[in-house]
Amino acid sequence: MAKKNNPLIEDNYQEELLDLTQIQAEAKRCLNCKAPRCSLMCPMQCEPHRFIALLNSGNIEEAAKFVYEKNLLSYICGHICPSEKYCEKNCLRGRIDRVVKVREIHRYLASLNRRDEEEFQPLNNKHALIIGGGPVGLVMAHKLAKRGLKSTILEKSLYLGGALRQQIPAFRLPSSVIEHDLNPLLNERIEVKLNTTFGKDVTYEDIKDKYYATIFTTGLDKARTYNFMKNHPKVVLAHDFLKMCRHELDVDTYDKIVVIGGSDTAMDCLASAKSIAKEVVGVYRREKERLRANKESLEMGFKAVDDFIFNRTPLRFDEVGNMVFKNYYGEEEETIPASLYVLAIGVLIDDSYLKNFFEIVEGIIKGKKMPNVFYAGDISSPDKTLVSALSTVEEVVKEIFEYLKLD
Ligand SMILES: Cc1cc2nc3c(=O)[nH]c(=O)nc-3n(C[C@H](O)[C@H](O)[C@H](O)COP(=O)(O)OP(=O)(O)OC[C@H]3O[C@@H](n4cnc5c(N)ncnc54)[C@H](O)[C@@H]3O)c2cc1C
Repeated sequence: MAKKNNPLIEDNYQEELLDLTQIQAEAKRCLNCKAPRCSLMCPMQCEPHRFIALLNSGNIEEAAKFVYEKNLLSYICGHICPSEKYCEKNCLRGRIDRVVKVREIHRYLASLNRRDEEEFQPLNNKHALIIGGGPVGLVMAHKLAKRGLKSTILEKSLYLGGALRQQIPAFRLPSSVIEHDLNPLLNERIEVKLNTTFGKDVTYEDIKDKYYATIFTTGLDKARTYNFMKNHPKVVLAHDFLKMCRHELDVDTYDKIVVIGGSDTAMDCLASAKSIAKEVVGVYRREKERLRANKESLEMGFKAVDDFIFNRTPLRFDEVGNMVFKNYYGEEEETIPASLYVLAIGVLIDDSYLKNFFEIVEGIIKGKKMPNVFYAGDISSPDKTLVSALSTVEEVVKEIFEYLKLD
């Protein structure tokens, strides 16, 4: 194992933005449906049919403003939203030839960076605490600020942006794109405390009398694992692996990396592993057809691997430190040697402290234990995608204002 300069840090990213002529041609392909399925399918109600109609009538400026009116993280979503399961899923144009590239249009409009001047209501004397400085925590703080509330964000890492900044590879989502959308959210009504972990550096006792409302936007932080893998030197959890790939200047290199899992995160691990290992292998417990990742991720993952082995589930380590797998449907065993095993088999909410505030049943929050405590984002969204996480914010803002008896 040797160290080398990390090839995954920012740099190689080439923005592939369609130009205005291409975007207009794409928008013209829209069938202008009476009941636009693109808009019905979007959890954030970004209303693609409306920004496409604005484009088609020549109102580029209006279309560009509209995307930010609907979604404060439009440029980010224009890069990573799995549009094939939302707006592009049932696009009727697909029945004729191919679906309209809605995400590309959204991305182009967001790249123009047009936002209406925002109105901020006068400050009231209320202050909220937001735990978690991911995209949802930041959007929440911004929305509260606009309605007159100050907030303090506690973020345990050194960065704002949550999974976008910590785990999604820079070749899919570079920092410049993250900053394009997140920087405008911050203002003097929002205080940020980085490197501050709730439950460790700050406890509920410390803060309970200081804030009118506490909102948890802590995401999914607890990785699933197998007992026999815990603390093994050849095993790394997907989130830690992706953090290393995104942030460390020098990285270890490997002869062979095996990534275990079939999710989008597993595909990000495979694609990242390609840059630091001579050989990359994916292992999934079921058949190929049951891989859970979306089509775009799968293409990326399959491009990266030298081999993908199916129907194998981890069992134990052998005496020389190679992992032994079992056939998922049978008994036979197979050793799959590697210098590093990356475990990407899912994440859960960290109930170690959340259980003090919420009723949690099988990893899902079912109710609150205190009236002044709220939650939003991945910890409450069914889909674990950015638009789905963001779609939870508005309702919680409403709940907070009702609780505080504010307009
Ligand atoms: C590898 C990977 C790839 C993904 N790819 C896509 C994609 O292509 N498209 C898509 O739409 N979505 C994708 N997602 C999902 C998307 O990133 C999330 O839906 C989104 O980030 C959720 O936002 P959030 O703010 O709820 O949580 P997070 O982004 O997880 O942010 C939570 C924040 O809370 C902080 N925190 C946690 N515990 C504490 C504590 N005790 N004290 C203080 N701070 C704390 C964390 O450090 C983190 O910054 C991906 C996620 C991952 C992990």
